[in-house]
Amino acid sequence: MSKAIVATASLAGCFGCHMSILDIDDKILQLIELVEFNKSPIDDIKEFTKMCDVGLIEGGCCNSENIENLINFRKNCKILISVGECAIMGGLPALRNGIPIKECLDEAYLGGPTTGICNPDKIMPNDEELPMILDKVYPCHEIVKIDYFLPGCPPRAELIWEALTALLTGKEMNLPYEVIKFD
Ligand code: SF4
Repeated sequence: MSKAIVATASLAGCFGCHMSILDIDDKILQLIELVEFNKSPIDDIKEFTKMCDVGLIEGGCCNSENIENLINFRKNCKILISVGECAIMGGLPALRNGIPIKECLDEAYLGGPTTGICNPDKIMPNDEELPMILDKVYPCHEIVKIDYFLPGCPPRAELIWEALTALLTGKEMNLPYEVIKFD
């Protein structure tokens, strides 16, 4: 059986979901038999080199680079999966959604408790190389079509493993309560 090609990305996430992908312990050896990673922080491949079977997305979209990256994943992955609460609902970064963007930037760079030390000249970053911050943090399915959602913060390693192997082998998912409950 030829290996499935998998790509992964972290947008506005904390890499905890990627840690959970790697937290499948010795099943990592089975995973290597089953899949080949393409563009992903796991193998540090920066650009797509072929069409992928599955894309795993961690994090929502908080800036223009996240949007470009997500659209690129949609184009290059047959199946796209939102992994974790940040990708599904915006997660912790979306706490800023109820606050005007100017207030957020002022707090971060001008008036926050540490800005006197870290940014004494009160410079608001404005290099044209920097991605533009969005008006709010968007969940991935509001930007592109998402095929599946794996909830959790992060989703448990067993859940990611079960979902991925079910998808790639056509076998039924085995999801005992402990795997899908969230404390
Ligand atoms: Fe991190 Fe949780 Fe967001 Fe995953 S869902 S990126 S673990 S904060």
